[in-house]
Amino acid sequence: MNKNKLFVLSILCLIFLLLERFLHISIYAVILFMTLGFGFVWYSSEAKITLKASKDRQNLKKQLKSSSTDAYLKHKQMQTIISMMPFPLILMDEDGKIVLYNGHAAILRKGNDERKLTYFDNDFIEQVQSILKDAYILENKMEKIIKINERDYQCCCVPVITHGHFGGSLIIFQDISNALEGERMQKRFIADASHELKTPISVIKGMVEILNRPDFDDMETQKDFNIQIQKEVLRLENIVKDLLELSKLSVSTPILHYENVNLHQLIHDTCHSLIPLMNEKKLQFKENLEGDAMLYCDPLKITQVINNLVVNAIKYSESGTIEVATRSDDNFYYLIVKDQGCGLFKEDQKKIFDRFYRVSNSRSRQKGGVGLGLSIVKSITDAHDAIIEVDSKINEGTTFTIKFKMK
Ligand code: ADP
Repeated sequence: MNKNKLFVLSILCLIFLLLERFLHISIYAVILFMTLGFGFVWYSSEAKITLKASKDRQNLKKQLKSSSTDAYLKHKQMQTIISMMPFPLILMDEDGKIVLYNGHAAILRKGNDERKLTYFDNDFIEQVQSILKDAYILENKMEKIIKINERDYQCCCVPVITHGHFGGSLIIFQDISNALEGERMQKRFIADASHELKTPISVIKGMVEILNRPDFDDMETQKDFNIQIQKEVLRLENIVKDLLELSKLSVSTPILHYENVNLHQLIHDTCHSLIPLMNEKKLQFKENLEGDAMLYCDPLKITQVINNLVVNAIKYSESGTIEVATRSDDNFYYLIVKDQGCGLFKEDQKKIFDRFYRVSNSRSRQKGGVGLGLSIVKSITDAHDAIIEVDSKINEGTTFTIKFKMK
């Protein structure tokens, strides 16, 4: 019985006792009134309690309903976030059950099965199973690189801690193949560049050592060595120049200074300066400039492209004609450099744009090539969003076609 009820009952007792004493009401009537009074107080307080309990129940129901709606919404939000992640993602609970996963996780399956992924050691390919198992057993943060369908994935497991206990694990798989390939290429580039620089340096070093011998007095050899040293220094200079150019072009977005350029004029000027080289080898030169003359491009970089292609045409031709042509249609602006030189094998045609690639080391070295000219051409055409194609036949000649998209 609460305090209020006791207080009311005590007051009622007091009133009835006073009534009995001062108004001389019969004791039976007082007892009757007291019983009725007690009953009334008791009933009203019980009714209040029942009302409060029913209100509490209603509130509880409301709370339960809203918290289950909250939980549902949170689950939906989580599902949406997970499905929008651009890489495979899995959420596993503390019992190893797969709670959530997105569409990209399909590549982690054993076959093309569409069944729901349910448990860490079901349905997944072996490497993934072993990672999920480790995440489940170790309950720790983990990182591992694995190969799936010839691509490299960095797998990262993050434990989900709820109320201080392991509540499962979030596992993401990030495709790092491009980054690794970039790293590999960088390493190969450094190795190739060092190798290319080492050769002329050791030639110069050897010759200087001989020239410096106290007993060396062969004037003929000295003269010959001086010419060779000069050649090797020139070669070193060219390699360094090309490397610097390539490093500038390798920046993710090389800075191009676009303008409307009269390409016919630019070709004419660039090739004009190379005519003495063609004359030296008794090669003919032909310009076949058709279509639109104007092209929106970086004139300095395109000059370098024409120069590299025509110099190669001269280097790798012993006779015939070198032709530079242009034409255009609705889709492309074509720049074509054609020679009747030694040509290229099919398998070489795929690789000539790679850095330091030379078809025949001895022949290219003889011609003073390093294998960087065409990779510079490729970087420049890529930066212009243009396409470069090569068509060649051994001993018949080679044609390079650059297709600039019409803007
Ligand atoms: P290089 O400085 O060695 O000429 P490039 O990158 O310009 O380097 O060319 C790569 C290789 O492609 C050369 O070693 C050469 O064998 C081949 N090549 C390039 N242009 C021609 C061409 N017009 N005809 C035949 N072979 C070519």
